Amino acid sequence: MSYSREIYDEAERVLRSRRLAAERKAQNLRLRFRQNPRVCELEAIMAGSVAKLSDLIRGGGRDYAAAFESIRSENLAAQEELASILAAAGETVRDFEPQYTCPHCSDTGYHDGKRCSCFQKLLRDTAAARLCALTGMTLHSFDELDLTFYSDEFDEVLGCSPREHMREIIAYCRHYGEHFSTDCPNLLLRGATGTGKTLVSLCIAAAACSREMNVIYGPVQVLLRQLEKEHFGREDGEAEETLTSCDLLILDDLGTEFSSPFYTSSLYAIINERLLGGRPTIISTNLDADAIYTHYGEQIASRLIGAYEPLLFVGQDVRQQKQQRRFQ
Ligand SMILES: [Zn+2]
Repeated sequence: MSYSREIYDEAERVLRSRRLAAERKAQNLRLRFRQNPRVCELEAIMAGSVAKLSDLIRGGGRDYAAAFESIRSENLAAQEELASILAAAGETVRDFEPQYTCPHCSDTGYHDGKRCSCFQKLLRDTAAARLCALTGMTLHSFDELDLTFYSDEFDEVLGCSPREHMREIIAYCRHYGEHFSTDCPNLLLRGATGTGKTLVSLCIAAAACSREMNVIYGPVQVLLRQLEKEHFGREDGEAEETLTSCDLLILDDLGTEFSSPFYTSSLYAIINERLLGGRPTIISTNLDADAIYTHYGEQIASRLIGAYEPLLFVGQDVRQQKQQRRFQ
């Protein structure tokens, strides 16, 4: 996957600041403890024992075993004393060395001549953050959901009350988000306006993000508009790659965007590529199955109906009810 120069620059800036921060922290710690003359002596003993050991190995001799043991115990005693001085100050010998965020590449971004996985993740996250900034959405927690907005009167079609039905839907979505992996199914959240699809999507996004998953959330219209700008060269960016490669893509409010051949073909390309790549997608919409066929045609509809798990959101408009409660 290729990224723009700005994404590389930003990711490299993050790596550099991680590296410098780790090195500065270790150096400051060393400088602080070197004000203690005993620490300097102990470091000299430890460095000296390394030199003595290499002389011994080169020289051999009759008393080799006894000399080796003497050097070893001198070194161990120095290490232990240094550790106890540091422990008394709440530090460890390990902290004398830079503790890099990524132990594989020491925050250089490269490991065994290849781009390290930490650098790849940083590039993905940086591109995703840029795209998410466009949608201006705030993530939410499942604990914020209030089931009392859903009626507890029995509904014959559902075979239970809307509240009971939504309790199950929300419990399923919570489990989905909190255990999210790329093996999760695709979801199609269907239901009228204000039944909680967007809020539940934002809760899943937050839960999946806290599992360090790369999540893109956005209204379909905003994401497609960005794709269009980049496609026709009005803006630089990597929306297409980011939308197809992120761990979880949540497309909110399908059916509210303008209808255009470019949008339909882009949508198909994203949905299809993610299906082929085995990367889950969640789509929310007010449209029912017939309307999806009418709006998007056979190609998209057959994928949404066949390869997505449908979840029906029911109830009265929660936003309207919240406003009414505010004025009561
Ligand atoms: Zn790394």
